[in-house]
Amino acid sequence: MTPEDTMRMLVTLRSRGVTEPRVLTAMERTDRGDYVSDTFKARAYEDVPLPIASGQTISQPSVVGRMTQALNVQPRDKVLEVGTGTGYQAAILSHLGRRIYTVERHRALARIATETHVRLGLTNITVISGDGSHGLPEQAPFDRILVTAAAEDPPGPLLAQLREGGSMVVPVGVSDHMQQLVIVTRTASGYDYEDLNMPVRFVPLVEGVEHG
Ligand code: SAH
Repeated sequence: MTPEDTMRMLVTLRSRGVTEPRVLTAMERTDRGDYVSDTFKARAYEDVPLPIASGQTISQPSVVGRMTQALNVQPRDKVLEVGTGTGYQAAILSHLGRRIYTVERHRALARIATETHVRLGLTNITVISGDGSHGLPEQAPFDRILVTAAAEDPPGPLLAQLREGGSMVVPVGVSDHMQQLVIVTRTASGYDYEDLNMPVRFVPLVEGVEHG
């Protein structure tokens, strides 16, 4: 990432509502070029989703930024991400929280993400190959959960793995249409839901695992 790429990306992020300094710094430290194949390297710093392996996509930087901002990760937080892709969002979270667990149902993507994080020395991320719709009970509870695939409703097992006072950001809506970002906060007596008024388009959360 050249200084010009960084500067342009930061200007775009700010103009699209990513203003939190900690989030901008974490994104500045995360070179998106490391998370796309050679074919798409030249376009890595554009604010668009791009194709990755297994027919999936790497998210648009401004959407990653706004979701990260809404999640409001604190330095001591244990965070779960569902839908690793090639690991771009997880890398950004690794600069904000204490420990990041990220689950990916495509085994090939989980392998690519692990290799990239190891190569870059991002040692507080653990990539798990599996179905993240059931969460990660053995590491629960989590302070923050970020779902980067669309669900029809916030998945029950994920809600159950939130710590009291913790929150989850999830795109909610019928697959393949526009979804709305929702933030769910666990309270002493139940859950508070807030619509973030931000339309997004994610691939659907699919149950089960894929070996490719
Ligand atoms: N967070 C990624 C974006 C990934 S796109 C980034 O930083 O760019 C969404 C990903 O969710 C896809 O890779 C898809 O395979 C994965 N996914 C969908 N359903 C899943 C599930 N049940 N468990 C784990 N991963 C899932």
